Amino acid sequence: MSLTTGADYLERLKDGRKVWLGGATVADVTSHEGLKPAAREIAALYDLQHESPTRELLTAEHRGEHCSRAYLAPGSAAELVARREGFEVWARASLGMLGRSPDYMATCLTAFAANQTFFSAGENKGFAENLARYHEDARRRDLCLSHTFAGPRTDKSKTVSGQGGSVATALRIVGETDSGPIVRGMRSLATLAPLADELLVFGAGRPLAAGEEDYSISFAVPLDTPGLQLLCREPFTRNGRVDHPLASRFDEMDCVAIFEDLVVPWERVFVYRDLELDRNFKVATHFNEHVGQQVLARRAVKIQLALATASAVVESTGLAKADEPRRRLGEIVTGLDVTEACLRAAEADAFTTDWGMCVPATKPVLAGLRVSKDVYASAVETLRDLSASGLFMTPTSADLEGPLADVISQYYRGATMDGKERTRVYRLAWDLVGEAFGSRQLLFEKYFLGDPARSYAAAWDQCDKNQLGNILADALGGRE
Ligand SMILES: Cc1cc2nc3c(=O)[nH]c(=O)nc-3n(C[C@H](O)[C@H](O)[C@H](O)COP(=O)(O)OP(=O)(O)OC[C@H]3O[C@@H](n4cnc5c(N)ncnc54)[C@H](O)[C@@H]3O)c2cc1C
Repeated sequence: MSLTTGADYLERLKDGRKVWLGGATVADVTSHEGLKPAAREIAALYDLQHESPTRELLTAEHRGEHCSRAYLAPGSAAELVARREGFEVWARASLGMLGRSPDYMATCLTAFAANQTFFSAGENKGFAENLARYHEDARRRDLCLSHTFAGPRTDKSKTVSGQGGSVATALRIVGETDSGPIVRGMRSLATLAPLADELLVFGAGRPLAAGEEDYSISFAVPLDTPGLQLLCREPFTRNGRVDHPLASRFDEMDCVAIFEDLVVPWERVFVYRDLELDRNFKVATHFNEHVGQQVLARRAVKIQLALATASAVVESTGLAKADEPRRRLGEIVTGLDVTEACLRAAEADAFTTDWGMCVPATKPVLAGLRVSKDVYASAVETLRDLSASGLFMTPTSADLEGPLADVISQYYRGATMDGKERTRVYRLAWDLVGEAFGSRQLLFEKYFLGDPARSYAAAWDQCDKNQLGNILADALGGRE
């Protein structure tokens, strides 16, 4: 057992998994044009665990073995900060563009497995032990996990069991064997699944009602498990590092997971027919606080990238000293500062649970998550406004290297850069703003942790109304 290298990781993906893309199955996900670039980027992240000085930031010794810090439950504020420093290494190496770098799910699984008291409730004790064992195994093998929490979007006005009418679509238990339960149905989103070692299926996507026990099952399976198929969306990978500096590298694939009479080995079942556990697992394990720390660290890098690109655009047009562009850039800086302040406050006010895990403070993490997704969206909007037609009126690398190279260098030059450099800046801007890749990044930041409308509504529900009432009374009853 040891830390994964990039080569180990790529080798493990060649396991005969059933991945559909463009109407055909993919024989080898590491060599498919649409999947290969992200696989290579993740392999490069793993390699950073073996090189100094990043090795020291990304890994730590645990029970005599070196392992990823993301697979270790922080027991103190110092360990929490050390974990974030590791998050930052991978975020910078992937420019914040890989939302599902393996530290995300390692952090999530670690949070789940640590709260044994919660998962051991009622009849679930043996399954809770499965979860602890699975976490230990994933940590020791340094696995790259994908997850699917989201159920089908067949009819959102109906319950989970009502999805699909006479032919149910939601994932459910349809039988039991000595080796394990049989499941059938679908999950609507599993990012990175074609490029992960295993798929973690948790919760039912929405609260289950009494009578819906068949829909309550959480488990993990390797991606080559018989009965599991992945249906990929259209790839957003584009060719060429100059033409598409981001889309040529970071398209982490999203897909639907279809389960057709898949037998889940009993030792890989973590929750079984338990509506309470199903409903409360995120709050009970402080899922949002833990993964939120990783998200904020990564998102800060992503916002910096949008800011750096917008700044280069403004420089190129000679408007770096003009009021309006400086105001727009200053707004992004402010949002970035708020994002980083939330992250620091969450670490400074961290608390320790009954089960000995140090957790980032809830309020600053949640506020930071809500605000920073909007900061990223407005940074991209600012980039679009500042770039305008320059976004698409750019030559390609073929033009830059063709017979018109000198003409391009002259006519496309900007106030502070030659035509070639300026073209490269605007191609980067286009990947963030105009490409399908950039649109998906925006959607990802907005939705990957659930519906933001409900998140804001929850913030209002949890707001201290008594305090507001007192302030209002003071205002209304103030001195004449
Ligand atoms: C790029 C991307 C990657 C993702 N990766 C993963 C992943 O790896 N694993 C995973 O589990 N999930 C993933 N998510 C899915 C994420 O969990 C869902 O997008 C999220 O839960 C929101 O669900 P939805 O997309 O169906 O939108 P909805 O929640 O349906 O929201 C769409 C709109 O409908 C409105 N709406 C929905 N229901 C109601 C209602 N009852 N009443 C009133 N209005 C309503 C919402 O407010 C919103 O405006 C990913 C999402 C994206 C975009």
